[in-house]
Amino acid sequence: MAHRVLIAEDRQTTALIMSGALQEAGFAVAVARDGEECLALVRSFGPELVVLDLMMPKLPGLDVLKKLKADPQTHHLGVIVCSAKDYKTEVEQASELGAFAFLAKPVAPPELVGLAQRFFSTLGPARAPAPAPAPSPGEVFTPRVQAENGVARLWGTRGSIPVSEAAFVRHGGNTSCMEIDTGTDRLIFDAGSGIRSLGLSLLAGGPRHLHLFITHTHWDHIQGFPFFAPAYIPGYHITLYAPAHTDKDLESIFRGQLDRAYFPVQMEDMRAQLEFRDLGGEALTIGGCRISWEYTVHPSPTVGYKVEIGGRRLAYVPDNEFLKGYLGSPETLSMDEERVAMHAGLIEFLTGVDVLIHEAQYPNEEYPKKIGWGHTSVANACLLVKLCAAKKWIVTHHDPAHDDTFLGHKLTLTRQFLARLGSSSLVEHAYDGLTECL
Ligand SMILES: [Zn+2]
Ligand SMILES: [Zn+2]
Repeated sequence: MAHRVLIAEDRQTTALIMSGALQEAGFAVAVARDGEECLALVRSFGPELVVLDLMMPKLPGLDVLKKLKADPQTHHLGVIVCSAKDYKTEVEQASELGAFAFLAKPVAPPELVGLAQRFFSTLGPARAPAPAPAPSPGEVFTPRVQAENGVARLWGTRGSIPVSEAAFVRHGGNTSCMEIDTGTDRLIFDAGSGIRSLGLSLLAGGPRHLHLFITHTHWDHIQGFPFFAPAYIPGYHITLYAPAHTDKDLESIFRGQLDRAYFPVQMEDMRAQLEFRDLGGEALTIGGCRISWEYTVHPSPTVGYKVEIGGRRLAYVPDNEFLKGYLGSPETLSMDEERVAMHAGLIEFLTGVDVLIHEAQYPNEEYPKKIGWGHTSVANACLLVKLCAAKKWIVTHHDPAHDDTFLGHKLTLTRQFLARLGSSSLVEHAYDGLTECL
């Protein structure tokens, strides 16, 4: 278990530099942007060391330090105070209050890491955060969300092209993007337009090495990348993974959409370290996550991904034409039939997942005109979910022609048909911003 450090710093860039250095050194890090948030995170994140800026909004660092030292639950916490050199009186006060050390701003990352290591060398191995103290009379009971293995968040759930009219606001209009935040690592799936907001959120802190898994390189899965802020910031390292094409390599495809004819900024202006990798045969391990993939039916080399973390399994399969061309009722189909058996690899890959994020883009009456476009009818998707016995199905990749009212009816139909097939999987619709605890 990693030692936990809380950084209380209102300047985003400074917080980013400090958290990056500490994470690289193997610490688990959280960032608070003001004094009040710092106190809240001390309770919820349970740090062993706090790196405290003296000049912060809402509650100045010295007041935070006084509160920490006055509370028997937190008086033992290590505190490193950061301040500009000319705040001599405040620094003296901080030291009298029991701060472990002082760091002059601008903070040099190696010095910060060295101090943190020195502090923890006196502590011994990391322990789980202490259980919340028994409430004092009159205190409000506030249970907290449990997400031991991290959180998956959908940033884009629309297929084909972004939409923005009022009739789409409930599900959202951004094209495909999902983030998995494990607390230490950040995995991103697809770079549709949803990745723009995700990129901005990442600037608040977190790891500097990001892993971006692309299901396939159709526009709706890569069009947001030119707007992904971390790509322009030196110090970020972004590894992109995708299934190999026979004629073009991944870097050329990404470089192509930054051609001057399409976009004013070129790949050379992206100052992050970009690394392009074709998916090989082996599953990948990143931190505590195992990431594997399987090909789907779609008109371009396309995969679905499965992430296993702490015994939980989530699969992300936004584009897949299961039972391509089949217009009958799937109620009578079983694994013995050839049209089903040809998908045995994918079915096995998805069997028993806790969360399946998979499309069902076309209502059955629309499907005959769209055979071969790479997307599944509602009824055929229901059969896949039944066969792989996913515990929960989140339907994503909504058609840009389907507004919120239409999708509401479509969800009711999906639930009814799934039940008719005898499946007990829970089903809900993806929307931009949906989170799932892992
Ligand atoms: Zn798509
Ligand atoms: Zn596609």
